[in-house]
Amino acid sequence: MKYISTRGQAPSLTFEEAMLTGLARDGGLYVPETWPTLSMDQIASFAGKTYEQVAYEVMKPFVGDTFSELEFMEIIQRAYSGFGHVARCPLVQLDQNHYLLELFHGPTLAFKDVAMQLIGQMFQVALKRRGERVTIVGATSGDTGSAAIEAFKGLDAVDVVIMFPDGRVSNVQRRQMTTPSESNIHALAVDGDFDDCQALLKDMFNDFEFRDAVKLAGVNSINWARVLAQVVYFFTSAVSLGAPHRKVSFTVPTGNFGDIFAGYVAKRMGLPIDRLVIATNQNDILHRTLQTGNHTKTGVTPSISPSMDIQVSSNFERLLFDLYDREGAAVDQLMTALKDDGTFSLSQGAMARLREEFDSGHCSEAQTSAAIKRYHVDTGEVLCPHSAVAVQVADSIVRDESVPMISLATAHPAKFPTAVEAACGVHPELPPRMADLFDRDERMTKVPNDLGAIEKLIRERVGS
Ligand SMILES: *Cc1c(COP(=O)(O)O)cnc(C)c1O
Repeated sequence: MKYISTRGQAPSLTFEEAMLTGLARDGGLYVPETWPTLSMDQIASFAGKTYEQVAYEVMKPFVGDTFSELEFMEIIQRAYSGFGHVARCPLVQLDQNHYLLELFHGPTLAFKDVAMQLIGQMFQVALKRRGERVTIVGATSGDTGSAAIEAFKGLDAVDVVIMFPDGRVSNVQRRQMTTPSESNIHALAVDGDFDDCQALLKDMFNDFEFRDAVKLAGVNSINWARVLAQVVYFFTSAVSLGAPHRKVSFTVPTGNFGDIFAGYVAKRMGLPIDRLVIATNQNDILHRTLQTGNHTKTGVTPSISPSMDIQVSSNFERLLFDLYDREGAAVDQLMTALKDDGTFSLSQGAMARLREEFDSGHCSEAQTSAAIKRYHVDTGEVLCPHSAVAVQVADSIVRDESVPMISLATAHPAKFPTAVEAACGVHPELPPRMADLFDRDERMTKVPNDLGAIEKLIRERVGS
């Protein structure tokens, strides 16, 4: 399988190259040249299989012969062995025809672990074979940084440098980044906000001398391998409710559009998904796009579901590529308009296709809190604020009641204890395997918001 850029101007790459590269050189995102499909029989055969077995079969057509069969199976086994639930991504029932897919049983209690744990193992095997070492640098507002640290800690082919805004992440999030003691992990508390961290990251990638010297690599959500890992749980959950003989729908709490795009990929592969529902908080650029056909940036308003506080949904570009018949030039035009003017309008044809597959809804802060409270009273389930956005939107849209709805639960409530307790009066406890998080020693380096100083520090740490 070859990978091509959504802007049509970068060379096509193998899976391994696309994974190690991240962003294409023409500014686009890598997507597979074609969507592989699975037969009804093959999908039906997933019933009763382990998460790891299904993961192997779903991802294999995309990965090709990058890894031997045994290598790939072992990568998958290692990736999910640290999950706190044997089913890995279990499904629980909320109501007659409404289910919750729990994606937060990984080491950092958010769904980012599902993909990050896998690409940690894939990077390690690929780099070992190439005899290379890379430095992964990331900027985080919380969840991505800790997921990357947990996934790559102790792997000897990578150093991981995570920049986070000093004093602006939750205590749980900070401690998840600063307590791992492995020597290849470097947590940098930047004297600035999240935008400063992101700007520093971008500047590092544009500093080619530095980039080559430390062999910079990125694992942010535009990395194709991350999207791919997320396709798996759409299959496992749908099959446990009777697919492919029965349709299901999904509601996905959405920020960067990576998670719901994975659902779209599952559908392209032949999984009978009825509706894919985009759930946003008050930062609702995608909901407005579905309503009006205009994709227009406004500012970001901080919310109690911070991992969805986004104004540029990077992975939406991958969908645009399909909506515009895979014409890179058309996507390039739209993305240029977004960058220059902060807005673009979708063509009528693109809008029709978008609405054929997707619905959307948004959720105010008050509605999010009310949903946490209501579900606690009605089901005993304590939802995190992101998952609450999904169930609220699933409950509020008009939908076919004969089709089961699966809402994605993207974080454990204990990751956002303040908002959860304010909403329903329950203080969510960390799972036992993490109960000592607040007793562990912290290790971080405070740095000024200064590119030169941070690059110097990274060079010293990785020895180049
Ligand atoms: C990242 C994240 C999201 C948004 O997922 P996208 O793939 O960016 O749309 C939702 N909830 C939580 C808890 C997250 O960490």
